[in-house]
This record gives sequence, C-alpha cells and structure tokens, in this order.
Amino acid sequence: MDILPLELGNTVGQKASDKCGVVALVEENGVEYRLIQSLRILQHRGQESAGISIYNGKDLKIYKGMGLVREVFSQIKIDQTGDRGIGHIRYSTAGSSIIDNAQPIFSRVGKYEIAIGHNGEIVNADEIRSELESKGYSFNTTSDTEVILRLLAINLARGEDPIDAMKLTFSRIRGAYSLVIMINERVFGVRDPNAIRPLVLGKTRMGYGIASENVVFEQLGGKTIRDFYPGEIIELTKDGYKSHRFGNASPAHCMFEYVYFARPDSTMDGRNVFEVRKKLGEILARESPANADIVIPVPDSGRSHALGYSLGSGIPFVEGLIKNRYVDRTFIMPTQNKREDELDIKLNPIKEVIQGKRVVLVDDSIVRGNTMRKIVGLLKNAGAREVHVRVGSPPIRYPCYLGIDMKTKEQFVAKDGKSMEQLAKEFGADSVAYISVDGLVEAIGLGKNELCLGCLTGKYPIPISNPNEANSV
Ligand code: SF4
Repeated sequence: MDILPLELGNTVGQKASDKCGVVALVEENGVEYRLIQSLRILQHRGQESAGISIYNGKDLKIYKGMGLVREVFSQIKIDQTGDRGIGHIRYSTAGSSIIDNAQPIFSRVGKYEIAIGHNGEIVNADEIRSELESKGYSFNTTSDTEVILRLLAINLARGEDPIDAMKLTFSRIRGAYSLVIMINERVFGVRDPNAIRPLVLGKTRMGYGIASENVVFEQLGGKTIRDFYPGEIIELTKDGYKSHRFGNASPAHCMFEYVYFARPDSTMDGRNVFEVRKKLGEILARESPANADIVIPVPDSGRSHALGYSLGSGIPFVEGLIKNRYVDRTFIMPTQNKREDELDIKLNPIKEVIQGKRVVLVDDSIVRGNTMRKIVGLLKNAGAREVHVRVGSPPIRYPCYLGIDMKTKEQFVAKDGKSMEQLAKEFGADSVAYISVDGLVEAIGLGKNELCLGCLTGKYPIPISNPNEANSV
C-alpha cells in the first residue's frame, strides 16, 4: 500500500465507541439551520457533543462543540452557508468526553476534502490500524471512525471514484456503521451489510435527507421515503438520490433500538417503536403475571412497556413516579458517579398514589441495576405494600461490541446467570421477571435471524475479535 500524504482535522483523543445520531441534507438553499434542528430532534441519541459540516460552494466547513445541540450552536457563530451538509451528535464511553472526539471528523487528501459522521462501532478497527501503522501511516486518534476515514482517504488518493473508494473501504471493515459522508460537494449515507444501526432516507420540504430516525423528516414537514437497505450507499442530489449496494445483505437490526434507544414515535425497518414497546408490555403481562393493584412505569423509558402491561393484565396504569425533566438520562451519563448523583434528584414518588398498594413496576431494560434498586427503595419508602419488577427486555448478560456502551460483563446486574430470586433480593423487590427472548422477538415482529440479540445470547451477527470474552458469562 502506498504511503500518501494525509491531512487530518482536529481529532486527537481517546478510544471512542459511539452510539450517536447522524443527519445529511441536500436542499435548494442554506441547510445549516435545518441540520441543527434535525440534530435537536435526534438529541436523545447523544448529549455530549454536536457538529455539522457544510459545503460552501468551495470547501467543507466544520462547526462542532461539547454539550447539547442548542448549547453548542448558541456559542458557535456559523459564518458560512451551503445547500448541503451533514450533522452528528454523540455520546461517549467514559474518559472520551472531549472536544477532539466530536464529529464530523475531517480529512484532506489530494483534491478531496472528506467529512464523516458515524453511528456504530467497527470491531476490526484495531487490526486495520495496526496494519496501516506497520506500513507507515500514523493516526491522530484511537477512534474507529478515523480508521474508516483513513481507509477512504487512501482509496480516494489511489484514484478511485468515490463510490468505488467507499465500496473498497467497506469491504475491509467489519461492524456496525451508519454513516453520513461528504466528499467535496457530494453527500452520501451508508448502512452496513447487517443494518445494525438505523438509517432512513427522506424527503424534506426543499430537498432530500438522510437521518438516524424518520422523526426528523416527519417533524420538519417532510416525509419518510424508506429505510436504507442492508449494505447500501445512497448519494443525495438536488433531484433525488442514487442507490448503490455492497456486501452480503443479511440484516441483524439491534434489538436495543426498539427496547430503549430510539424515540417511541420513530418507525424503524417497518416497525413503529411505540407499538413494539406496548406489545413488549402485553407479552410480559402474559408471560409473567402479578397479583397487584397498580402498574407504574419507570419514566420515561418504561412508559410504553407499562401501558402494554396494563392493557395485557387489566391492572390500572398509574403515574406514580414523577421525573425531573431537566435531569439528563442516566444511562448515557459518562461516569458511574455522575449516574448515581443524577438518580438522587431524578425521580420522586407520589405517596398518595402508592401507599398501601401492590405495585407492578415496569422498566424497559436493566443494565447495571443501580436505578432499579433505588426506585424500588423509593416505592417501599413511599408505602408500597409489594413491588413486583417487570422488565421489557430479557436479561442483558453479554457485552455489546456494536455501538452501545456496554463493554464489560462485570457491569451487568444479571451476570453469572443470577436467578430471579437473587435479583429480587438485590433490588429489594417482592418478585422480578423479564420478558423471554422469544417474547421480545414476537413483539418486534421481525424474524429472529433478522435481529442482533448479542447482548442477550452471546451470539453476535458478525465475528467478534475477542470471542472468548463475548461467549463467556
Ligand atoms: S449486542 Fe445488544 S446492544 Fe449491541 S447491537 Fe446487538 S442487540 Fe444491540
């Protein structure tokens, strides 16, 4: 492989494994404002940094910073305009919550300027990095997104057409990637051959767009065209779009998007997320009934599941926990200390609703268990006679290597095959039950072989570099 001069943007930082949101727009006039609005619509997918890149008719310009979208763009003056651009929001693993890891990231090679925003995680990034380093390339970051950027830049510098350069790049990488890419004035979206992370094509009022979730198009007055196919590159133009396929198409959509991460008003791969969550609750009620007086959701993520449990069981749904809306979601806070601190001020029980009642407490999922332990304690202190915990996903027992920040099995409260009785004791609850894997698959309504269930079963849709860790409990 030739050694080529690469100029990389400001991307120095630590290892990043992103669960993020991406957007791309090509419209009749300046897209900056609508890119920012789109990122605000996707804010639930990441709260640590936000950025956009626009093509001003000559160059790519990048604007990015740390914090919520509105915080970042109230501090940055956007001094250029362009009719096309991409955007990215991010949350990070612990220790990498720094500006240098904010995206889009940028590279210049020969006549090309490239900007990339990435949602997902590349499992063979270290292997490719070592190979390139042994050939004389150096990296500015440990980010897997930089590996994609480098490979793409190398292929472009060899004289490949951008589409061929992308196909060559993706033939080398393995993992989860939903990408938005600008190569000079050309705008692309890419979904990996397993379609692990969501990516949607849509029509906007003044052009065409790509986004992690279709709510972007619905809320901005446009309409959803369709989900990206597995292994698809779509180039946006002012008149429409062009599709190119690559890789072996075998979908393995992340079940966790349906269970927790996506917005309930999104529709992904033909399934409305709210309807899936309600169905999860109904099946949970069928599989694990409880003698109780009221069903209380863990707000906000357990609400749709709890509604389904109530409908399925006939037990009344009651809002018994009030959430402080101005405290961030605990799961995506970058450190355990921050998460614990946030919990203390996040939820408050309504004693008048709970006192003397047998409660079914429904949440979407349990990862570490600290939230559940605290909430059961809150309900018991508020006078609940019994608390029966019901969970809308099966126990998470294995790490995720494909873009969710669940990297070590030690963190999981359900590790080591713990029994439901042991978990009930840990939470201080009277009983605990999770939905089954078959129940989850039934609720999502896709085939078992069309879903990634890796963190539940230890069986991943693509080979993982460290299978010993992946396959041991
Ligand atoms: S391992 Fe779990 S969280 Fe990760 S992609 Fe698969 S289903 Fe989603």
